[in-house]
Amino acid sequence: MKLCINEATCMNNSTLKKDLELAEKNGYDYIELRIDMLRNYLKTAPLTDLADFFNSHNLKPAGYNSIENINFTTQEEWEKIETDLLFACEAKRFIGGETIVVVPTIKSGMTYSESEIFEDSVKVLSKMSQIVKPYDMKIAFEPIGSEDCCVRSLSEGMKIIEAVDEANVGLVIDAFNLYLFEGWKDIDCLKRIPVEKIFCYHIDDSDDLPLNILDHCHRLFPSNGVIPLQEITRILKDIGYAGICSLELFNPSYWSLDPEEVFEVGAKKTKVYL
Ligand code: ZN
Repeated sequence: MKLCINEATCMNNSTLKKDLELAEKNGYDYIELRIDMLRNYLKTAPLTDLADFFNSHNLKPAGYNSIENINFTTQEEWEKIETDLLFACEAKRFIGGETIVVVPTIKSGMTYSESEIFEDSVKVLSKMSQIVKPYDMKIAFEPIGSEDCCVRSLSEGMKIIEAVDEANVGLVIDAFNLYLFEGWKDIDCLKRIPVEKIFCYHIDDSDDLPLNILDHCHRLFPSNGVIPLQEITRILKDIGYAGICSLELFNPSYWSLDPEEVFEVGAKKTKVYL
């Protein structure tokens, strides 16, 4: 697998420019660009500057993330999603990066039935597939196991992707997000995912807390927590996955550190799983 870092990891203590320097310095092969951080960067420099950077360094962009709350949108929310999709596609023309990560809707008190969620997800992902197809871009759908999310499990995510049936729509395997759903009780489910449908592996460990208390702030460096990362990674390798292994943390205590340290420790802790 390829060593990658997701910009969420230092989103509150770094910038895109700083992330690029630190990722290159610490031997990362890829970086997942956050759409909001890219927009900020573009306030002071053009995309061609970014293209120059990637052309002259080992580091490459893996893709863009994330577009959230994609289900049951209002017209206004959908228009914003479309704007973000096209923004990422436009950036791809200059700098590359082949995947946009999209996330199902998280909202407390949702009362949609399983079939309504399935149908809406298929409809929305099919629409996204068509929008980004002319740019040769892929859509990576990321189930999140928390109770308030409408698509929580890997098997549910896979059923949706199968029904969409488009080559440019696949899944993100996020170790933490899927741990939130029954603590990876059905880890063998991963063996049944066709490898060509896995567009991205987000690696992240977790504090040892009850699942109903865990939140993204409890994400830890790989090996520092309780997620069976060795087994998850071994299954991914066994089924032939050789894409990015991207460190994606949202831990405020890491945001209080020097990003230099986070990139360095992150590379060391993630490399053992490649
Ligand atoms: Zn993720």
